Amino acid sequence: MQSLNKAESVVSIQALNHYYGQGRLQKQVLFDINLEIQAGEIVIMTGPSGSGKTTLLSLIGSLRSTQSGSLQVLGQELCGAKKAQMVALRSNIGYIFQAHNLLKSLTAKQNVLMSLELHDLSTANANARTEAMLAAVGLEERSTYYPEYLSGGQKQRVAIARALVSHPKLVLADEPTAALDKQSGRDVVELMQRLAREQGCTILLVTHDNRILDIADRIVQMEDGYLTTNAQLAQRNVVA
Ligand code: ADP
Ligand code: MG
Repeated sequence: MQSLNKAESVVSIQALNHYYGQGRLQKQVLFDINLEIQAGEIVIMTGPSGSGKTTLLSLIGSLRSTQSGSLQVLGQELCGAKKAQMVALRSNIGYIFQAHNLLKSLTAKQNVLMSLELHDLSTANANARTEAMLAAVGLEERSTYYPEYLSGGQKQRVAIARALVSHPKLVLADEPTAALDKQSGRDVVELMQRLAREQGCTILLVTHDNRILDIADRIVQMEDGYLTTNAQLAQRNVVA
């Protein structure tokens, strides 16, 4: 992997636009996005439903092809990147989604182990890391449980363990507390924050949940496909 430029920007976005559909049905959903995220930062992105948050997260996560502008993640340009490059980058990123996306047919431990498969570790090492990670999220006693026997908060903690066990440099979370009650939601983000601090990773977390905004170093907002700070938003509303 290339060394990071620009004061260690983990994510560096300039003039990014994104469109869904083709021809007459084409619809622009992201407009002139500019964003820098530095190593170790915890950034929260808020904004109404349909404003483009998940689309932006999937572009940054190298899960969708970047069409125009510049999007650099961990020093790699994703606009015009080849499939193989996109896939390779994904192993440096941890993903946590609203629906935990655990595989039902695998135990908690097997779900976490899976994300180490691409990392070329010995079986003993992978097992040790997985067990340590499940202990870190308070689930050492549940490692042999299948997801259906875990509560919502426990499943989301397995998802966090799965995302962080490989020590990714960047963690992307899309509404990770949406399906959780207040206390479990709080526990889950505090756990993410603590583990990220310990591992020195960078977090970009999308949320509607006002109760967790305080864990962020910085808050950015999406509105109708535009990324705005509060000051920019006020200015745009005056112009409009
Ligand atoms: P958010 O995560 O903020 O709710 P999304 O990124 O999911 O916003 O959606 C932004 C806009 O793009 C919405 O108008 C949505 O309907 C549209 N959209 C999202 N995904 C697709 C897709 N796969 N195909 C077409 N339109 C999409
Ligand atoms: Mg979304």
